[in-house]
Amino acid sequence: MLTITDARVVIDTNAEPVDCEILIDGNRIKAIKKDFLPGEKENVICARGQLILPGFIDVHAHILDPLIPASNFANASEMALRGGVTTILEMPTSKPTMCAAAVNEKVKRASKESIVDFAFHAGNMAAEYLGSVKELKGIVTGVKGFMCAPYALGIDELRQFIAESNRNGLLPMLHCEDEMTVQNETRKYLSLHNPEIYPLSRPAIAEKIAIENASSVVRENEHLHIVHVSSRAGVDALKTAKNRCKNISAEACPHHLILTADKMHTPKLKMNPPLRTADDCTALWSALNVGTIDFVATDHFYVDADEKERDIWSAPAGVPGLEALCPAMFTYGVKKMGISLFRFVQITSGMQARRFGLMHKGAIAPGMDADMLIVNTRDTKRFKSKFWSPYEGMDFSGYPETVILRGKVVYADGQVLEKPGYGKYLRP
Ligand SMILES: [Zn+2]
Repeated sequence: MLTITDARVVIDTNAEPVDCEILIDGNRIKAIKKDFLPGEKENVICARGQLILPGFIDVHAHILDPLIPASNFANASEMALRGGVTTILEMPTSKPTMCAAAVNEKVKRASKESIVDFAFHAGNMAAEYLGSVKELKGIVTGVKGFMCAPYALGIDELRQFIAESNRNGLLPMLHCEDEMTVQNETRKYLSLHNPEIYPLSRPAIAEKIAIENASSVVRENEHLHIVHVSSRAGVDALKTAKNRCKNISAEACPHHLILTADKMHTPKLKMNPPLRTADDCTALWSALNVGTIDFVATDHFYVDADEKERDIWSAPAGVPGLEALCPAMFTYGVKKMGISLFRFVQITSGMQARRFGLMHKGAIAPGMDADMLIVNTRDTKRFKSKFWSPYEGMDFSGYPETVILRGKVVYADGQVLEKPGYGKYLRP
């Protein structure tokens, strides 16, 4: 039995956290007591009045792929724990993960490497894989498709992808940028090579058109998840789509919420969709706060920093996002934007658990997995990555000081305390 004393926990819909004692028995939370139990206890962690949050769930992290050879579940786990993430849903990158054998290969590797819990999405959808969707039932948490190159689905393929995924109880997840718009705009800038022009080649209107086109083929009861919505125009299209179809959900990434295109002086900040304006950030925060955007996901993508320092057109697109997740979101979401702690818990773990059927994750309550963070909300510290990060040098508070995963302290005071292999495959 492990007891966490002097803890401040967000309970139910209360805006303010409540002083509690948390009892953990094995992997699970046994009880939460508002009245402290007197007497000697063995195996106690005193949270010293700090905030306890459920371990974050990142449903969009690229980890295993030939395109990102430096990335694996061992270093992703370390970044995850530093950023307060205890569960990762891995997203395919370039190599197809569209059959049971490909998923099982990833499960095998992650079972050896991972410290955090994990599951896998399938992808990237193409016409040739429509027949294999049913084979993925019960082993993946979602299926990824694109509306832009190099995996662009035509509108009929898109309709079939959404229908076939839904028929098999799998969540279709869609990258929404309109291929025609991206092609036309990119052509205008190809002769230029300063990183600042990259966002112009993939304007917000491409996102808006893609969301409109995608939502036009979703039938009333079908589910669809839109990954990394990045712009005000995208949010507006999403709002309309959600009004028509109640089973559409969406995520936003910390880089789109926090960083802006005018600071893009290096190809290191290249990602798709690209960084946008401060006004787009404002729209995303507001959408996240009111529920138009359901939750946060990192779109984590880790290559060596040198790999990113290429010509803007050939540099790989994507940034690491796991390591800064908790402090970046806490600093900007709670401190600057005034998001309530209740909503903060929802957008960092609660909504993800519900959407992807992770029954024992995403809340601090009896019977749930004891996945939790002891977060220091008082001190501000300059963010320093152990790897590299687009947030390097930013001042953040809300660092997780202790991370508990299934009842075990896996990270404390900057040190990872568990070995690769602790992470468990969360079979859907
Ligand atoms: Zn992605």
